Amino acid sequence: MTFVVGVTGGIGSGKTAVSDRFAELGIVVVDADVASRVIVEPGRPALAKIAEHFGSDILQTDGTLDRAKLRTAVFKDPAERKWLEALTHPLIREEILSGLRNATSPYALLVSPLLVESGQNQLTQRVLVVDVPEELQLERTVNRDNNSPDQVKAIMAAQASRQQRLDSADDVIVNDGSLEQLHQQVDTLHQKYLEMSSQDS
Ligand code: ATP
Repeated sequence: MTFVVGVTGGIGSGKTAVSDRFAELGIVVVDADVASRVIVEPGRPALAKIAEHFGSDILQTDGTLDRAKLRTAVFKDPAERKWLEALTHPLIREEILSGLRNATSPYALLVSPLLVESGQNQLTQRVLVVDVPEELQLERTVNRDNNSPDQVKAIMAAQASRQQRLDSADDVIVNDGSLEQLHQQVDTLHQKYLEMSSQDS
C-alpha cells in the first residue's frame, strides 16, 4: 500500500494551494470532497437509494442530486443524517481507497477538510495540518468566495478549532506568508516524505 499523507485544515486555510504544489512535484492527490460527489453521480447505486428514500424530488430535472435540498432534508433531522452517512461513508472510503491504490507516485496525498472528524485519517500514515491565523483565514476566504465576513465566521465557528486540528497534526504548515513561502514549506516536507516513504516500503 502507498504511503499516504493526509492534508487537512479549516475553510480557506490553503489546502488547495498546498496540494497543488505537491501535485506540481508529481505527487498524486486524492480529494475527499471529489470522492463524496462522485459516489452520488447519476448511474451510481447510492443516488438511486437516496431518491428512493427521500423521494424523486431530491433530484434535479437533469437527474443529478439536488445537494441543497438534501442538505436541508438532513440538517434538522439527525436520524436522516445518520441514514445518509451510513450509506455514503463506506462508499466514499472505497472511492478514496481506489484512488490511493492506483497512485503511481512514491507517496500520495489525501486532502480532506474532515480528515480526522470523519475517521479518514485511518487511511493515512501522517497528518499534515495547514494552519493559518484566523484573521487571515477570514480575509482570504471572504476575498475568494462571495460570502460576507459573518457567513465565513459562522462556518469557521462550526468547524474544528485551530487547536483541535493542531492536536492531531504530525506536521504543520503555517500559511501566514506569501505563496512562495508556502511552496518552500511544501518542498521541504516533500523531501521528508520521499525519505519516509522509501523507508516504509
Ligand atoms: P476550502 O477548504 O475552503 O476549499 P482551502 O483550504 O483549499 O479552502 P485555498 O483555496 O487553497 O484554501 O486558499 C484560500 C484562498 O487563499 C485562495 O484564494 C488562495 O489562492 C488564497 N491563498 C492561500 N494561501 C495563500 C498565500 N500564502 N498567500 C496569498 N493567498 C493565499
